Amino acid sequence: MKIEFFGTSHGVPSDIRYCNCIMLECDGARYLFDVGAPAADILTRKGYPFSSLKAVFITHLHGDHIGGLPNLLDLSNWYYKDSAYHVFLPQESGVRLLEQYIKTTAATPLRAPLVLSTFEAGEIYHDEHITVRAVKTAHTDNLLSYGFLVEGEGKRIYFSGDMRHDLSDFPACLYDTEVDLLITELAHFSVDILFEKLTACKAKRICLNHVYPVSKIDEALARKNELTAELLAAHDNDMILL
Ligand SMILES: [Zn+2]
Repeated sequence: MKIEFFGTSHGVPSDIRYCNCIMLECDGARYLFDVGAPAADILTRKGYPFSSLKAVFITHLHGDHIGGLPNLLDLSNWYYKDSAYHVFLPQESGVRLLEQYIKTTAATPLRAPLVLSTFEAGEIYHDEHITVRAVKTAHTDNLLSYGFLVEGEGKRIYFSGDMRHDLSDFPACLYDTEVDLLITELAHFSVDILFEKLTACKAKRICLNHVYPVSKIDEALARKNELTAELLAAHDNDMILL
C-alpha cells in the first residue's frame, strides 16, 4: 500500500504546498481522499493514468478539499474516456454542483461509468483492494463532514478530514481500533488539544497534514517522545509505504 501526498496545505495553498489531496495506491488501483489540489495535473505529471483511479472520497465541501475536483471530473468525462471511477460526496448539493459544472462546460451529461453519489456514516465502499468506512465529524455547523477508515492488504489507515475547534469530534473508533497510520489535520485546534487525544489513541504511526500555522509542525515534532506512535509531518510529494 502506498500513500502519496498530492497536497498538504490547510485552507490556503503556499509556495510549496497545494491544498488537501492524498492518493492511496493498492496493486495499481488508485484512490483519492479529498481533491483540494489540481489532481488532474498532478496525476498527469506523475504518469498515473486516469483509468487507474477507482474512487474519490470527499470529507466535506470546503474549497480546499474539492477545488481540484471539477477539472478532474471534466477531463475524465470528455477526454480520458477510459476513466471509470466513483466520487463519494458528503451531501447532495455537492453532486448537483458537479453535475451543473459538467453540463455548463461540456454540454454533455456525466458519462457512465463515472458516478457521483452521496454517503452516510458506515461502510460506503468495498472492492477487491480496500474497504472504506465513513466516520461522522462535526467540523462546522452548516456542512456535513466525515473522516475515513480504510482497510486493505491487512493494514488500516484513518484520514481525519477537518474536525471541530475543540476536537470534541475526534473519532471514538481510534481509541479501540488499532490503525497503522493516522493522517490528521492540525489547523483547527492547538497541539496541546491534539496530543491529549493522540496519547490515548491506538495508532502506530501518526502523520500531520493540513497544518496551520505551519510552525505547529515543529511544536508537535518537539513533543514526539510523549507518544508511543511514530510522529511524522507530511509535505507535498511525500510517500509512505505500508
Ligand atoms: Zn480544510
